[in-house]
Amino acid sequence: MATSLPEDALFLGFDSSTQSLKATVLDGNLVIVASESIHFDSELPHYKTKDGVYRDPSENGRIVSPTLIWVEALDLLLEKLKSKVDYKKIIAISGSGQQHGSVYWSKNGKAILASLDPLKSLRIQLEDAFSVKDSPIWMDSSTTLQCKEIEVAVGGALELSKLTGSRAYERYTGPQIRKIYQTKPDVYNNTERISLVSSFMASLLIGDYARIDETDGAGMNLMDIKQRSWSKIVLEATAPGLEEKLGQLVPAHAVAGLTLNTPGDLAISLGTSDTVFGITSEPKPSLEGHVFPNPVDPNCYMVMLVYKNGSLTREDVRNRYAECSWDVFNSYLEKTPPLNGGRLGFYYKEHEILPPLPVGFHHYVLGSIDSLDEAEVSEVGEFDPPAEVRAIIEGQFLSMRGHAERFGMPTPPNRIIATGGASSNEYILKSIANIFGCPVYTVQRPDSASLGAALRAAHGWLCNKEGQFVPISSLYGDKLDKTSLSAKLASPAGDGNLLSKYTLLVNKRMQIEKSLLEKFGRG
Ligand code: ADP
Repeated sequence: MATSLPEDALFLGFDSSTQSLKATVLDGNLVIVASESIHFDSELPHYKTKDGVYRDPSENGRIVSPTLIWVEALDLLLEKLKSKVDYKKIIAISGSGQQHGSVYWSKNGKAILASLDPLKSLRIQLEDAFSVKDSPIWMDSSTTLQCKEIEVAVGGALELSKLTGSRAYERYTGPQIRKIYQTKPDVYNNTERISLVSSFMASLLIGDYARIDETDGAGMNLMDIKQRSWSKIVLEATAPGLEEKLGQLVPAHAVAGLTLNTPGDLAISLGTSDTVFGITSEPKPSLEGHVFPNPVDPNCYMVMLVYKNGSLTREDVRNRYAECSWDVFNSYLEKTPPLNGGRLGFYYKEHEILPPLPVGFHHYVLGSIDSLDEAEVSEVGEFDPPAEVRAIIEGQFLSMRGHAERFGMPTPPNRIIATGGASSNEYILKSIANIFGCPVYTVQRPDSASLGAALRAAHGWLCNKEGQFVPISSLYGDKLDKTSLSAKLASPAGDGNLLSKYTLLVNKRMQIEKSLLEKFGRG
């Protein structure tokens, strides 16, 4: 197959995520030739992380990851990949990183990066390169105070959302930086540069501070999304002297191993967190969800919803009710009927982002599933194990549908592209197809982020060769289905009758959610 890429070249993509570091290598035909991963808890046990993170027992909501684990994982991954790939053939590298997480370089960070010795491990050389040892990550929810202060300083939550694409969120990097500035001013002053996880990984590869890209940068509550530059007013509201510590922004230009480019398509990523995203030409920032510059097309925006209770909360229900086994979990999903006999569950093992609710589990039963709109709702205790399993799965996707519709997503969407660890579960995908009433596709590998990064490496190489931005589709022309990027049908659309019933159930769920927010919401 002819692409515009050299036949014998290789493109390497990384994804530094919450629980692992993954790599995918594509050849000049955009076909996967190798992939590898390092699972933090099991392959780097000396850091004693659980799910890749530390949950601080002494401070409510504080969740961090040791910065050095990401460095050592890169050492290990490169070692593992060496036997599979001829590194000399790699002509471009790209990477993605879990969003919002931040790295704090000490005053000698730049000098250390500039003098890296390829014969020594990165881990040893970078031991003293950081002013903060543990990086705050996206799961952290300890900065409510800073969020409020920043919102007040810029004229309110909606103002901040109009400016930066999102109201202030605890996990966003700006509030995290403000907390460090307020609680450890010396550490803040001794920080030469602040990187995001993505620009941090790039810095290790280029031996210098890599710039933050405009799309990842939109997850900080610091960037003006229309101007795509740091917003002076928000910088001032966050911490003094911050612009210098952030460096300049750079356009992202290309990403998306999902080839998500058609309005009406929806992507659902089922990783440690669950995220939903779609493409829009008109940004409509609001008090929930997030707007980012679209990395694939400089004229479009990407809207995104993020749930903190994703895979780890599904695992928790699996462990408690389904014998710690996905097979048992799936058999329960199979043997329970769609709509779960009117049983609805809300599972917040962690403080949830969407809706902003504290830790807690809530169970409800609807009086009738034949006239759902009029059904009485009663709060109850636990369900039987199979109904618990169906309730978490239906609950998560009913919520996604309800919130995506509020954000302007059409029902049903054209199609859903599912990715992330749990997208390998066909029973979960079938529930998604029923609840959204559209077909669900998957990409060849559930770790599409590193595949996307490898694609971005190829695209970056081509843009560089052409001396200008070229559309990502020029990489494959009409041969997409011959590449490893092609999506395959995993579950056909559910039937229309069921879809209408789920529509009523979505409404019921959103009503209950509203009352939970009134009772327990963080405002
Ligand atoms: P991240 O990139 O955020 O680190 P991944 O996308 O690799 O996470 O997803 C990891 C998660 O995938 C695990 O926590 C696990 O719960 C989930 N997972 C793996 N296999 C299955 C399965 N068969 N069914 C449901 N979930 C699964």
